[in-house]
Amino acid sequence: MAAAKPLQDNFGRTIDYMRISITDRCNLRCTYCMPKKVRLVPAEKILTFEEIITVCQAAADLGIQKIKITGGEPLVRRGCPLLIGRIKRIAGIEQVTLTTNGILLGEYLEELLANGLDAVNISLDTLDADIYRKMTGCADVSVVIENLEKAVKSGVRVKINSILQKGINDREWESLVNLAENRRMDVRFIEMMPIGCGKKYEAIRGEEVLWALKKKYPLAEKELFAHGNGPAVYYRIPGFSGSIGFINAVHGKFCASCNRIRMTSEGKLKPCLCYSDSVDMREILRGDDPEDIRREKVRKALYKAVRHKPAMHCFESKEQISEDRQMVQIGG
Ligand code: SAM
Ligand code: SF4
Repeated sequence: MAAAKPLQDNFGRTIDYMRISITDRCNLRCTYCMPKKVRLVPAEKILTFEEIITVCQAAADLGIQKIKITGGEPLVRRGCPLLIGRIKRIAGIEQVTLTTNGILLGEYLEELLANGLDAVNISLDTLDADIYRKMTGCADVSVVIENLEKAVKSGVRVKINSILQKGINDREWESLVNLAENRRMDVRFIEMMPIGCGKKYEAIRGEEVLWALKKKYPLAEKELFAHGNGPAVYYRIPGFSGSIGFINAVHGKFCASCNRIRMTSEGKLKPCLCYSDSVDMREILRGDDPEDIRREKVRKALYKAVRHKPAMHCFESKEQISEDRQMVQIGG
């Protein structure tokens, strides 16, 4: 196949990044992401690794270069590192990264690196054991801290993703920022999006954290270069090894530079996080077509989803948000 032309949506945005959820299962119960009563997708409806590979091959044909593996918790699905290795070997895929809560990262780190993982995002909203237990429903934060230290030591690119909530972990920003002092690792604050349970919690604006950061570190300076695939804006504090990023998903609408498409664990392609519209990939993947026809249909479905990307999200007017699933079901 000839080299892929950039995949563009109706608004001229180049789409070269795909987030793929490989499971809706999780070993934590973060209050804003996975309520206790969430309905799980029956195992047989979750895409197999073969099916995910077919989608990635078709995506690469169309110019997708970067894949993020997410979930649920991707490391609870057996074989996740091997899947990453297989995706890495697809011609045209330049980068495969992972988003994890970090609980199982120590166990799988070596295998992930051996399979070519390019970077890992670890979700961590507090370093305080009690707050962490309350926010996640069960877990021990020291495990995550130990695993993030291992990841940093291994030399893989590490980013911490934190969501701050009023009255729950709003004071935690300082200790989270401190993680970047002596570690080559970015710490990013992400505004909670009004998706699923996220609607119920009072989120903190990125701007508020930035004000507090500038007050404490008046010499912190905005960086002029991007650190990855996303819309984060980064600040460097003199003397710190890592940077502090802000993803103001709600208040700093960055839809004009959106470069992504998503696929849920059951194979629904989502043009935008905010709306329920989706294109069903599983039906195509499980149809009777011969291999080449199936791959062509998968490409067409990807193209259709990209063409259906809306100009922007509508997080500011909650009544217009048509997506009613939880983040764990979509793949954050
Ligand atoms: N289990 C993995 C993890 O925690 O990183 C991957 C899946 S999780 C859904 C991916 C990211 O989505 C996490 O960083 C989580 O904090 C974030 N997330 C969940 N609900 C969110 C919401 N309502 N708004 C913004 N981010 C959210
Ligand atoms: Fe699980 Fe990640 Fe959601 Fe927490 S944020 S419940 S770890 S999927």
